Amino acid sequence: MKRLKNFTLIAVIALVGFVACQPAVQENETNDNEKKERVTMKDLKGPHALGDLPYSHDALEPYIDKQTMEIHHGKHHQAYVNNLNNAIEGTDLADKNLEEIFKNMSQHPTAVRNNGGGHWNHTLFWEIMGPNGEGKPSGDLLQAIENRFTSFESFKEEFEKAALTRFGSGWAWLIVDDNGELQVTSTPNQDNPLMDVADMEGMPILGIDVWEHAYYLKYQNKRPEYVANFWNVINWDAVANNYEKVRK
Ligand code: MN
Repeated sequence: MKRLKNFTLIAVIALVGFVACQPAVQENETNDNEKKERVTMKDLKGPHALGDLPYSHDALEPYIDKQTMEIHHGKHHQAYVNNLNNAIEGTDLADKNLEEIFKNMSQHPTAVRNNGGGHWNHTLFWEIMGPNGEGKPSGDLLQAIENRFTSFESFKEEFEKAALTRFGSGWAWLIVDDNGELQVTSTPNQDNPLMDVADMEGMPILGIDVWEHAYYLKYQNKRPEYVANFWNVINWDAVANNYEKVRK
């Protein structure tokens, strides 16, 4: 009988203990959810912000479709901005500009590399595209391209080759290197030639995003078609402007 009493007592203590633990568990779950929500709200107020597209979402039709532009700018680029703000919050990178950070990229966290690169690269990408692309540069930039690559056509071939041979996700670039020379190069993921981890360093003046998210809805697996059509949406005035800025 005494044994049974002890057993009952233990069972009651165990039950009380179990019940007492329940609110604690639920409270933790609630706190986690609240925390996630707070982080998301805070992202919007971070030091980096998504800029507006310099043209409408359908302006690059029929070469780049409206839906791709909406998702690419509004979802993908926004996510890079949010994740970047999250990654630098409370660190000494929070008040540095991206180009400064890229110089010592190898010493910083991967999240800053991926999302900082993502923010910078896409900002350039939107800027160097536009409707009514004339398909060819002029003036000093054309001269420099012809001097370096023999002709505009052979520059196009080299640039397309860089875009097509970049395995998986990444970018192809036209850059001005430290000697002021134009070079074609490519980088994986969201890296770019401003980063100390790049094979070839320099200032990008033109770039093409060859991640599948940039073309898959319209072109599916046909990256060559997307790359060939890219020439129809390049704003060469913007590229020439970038080139002039580097030379100053
Ligand atoms: Mn992209």
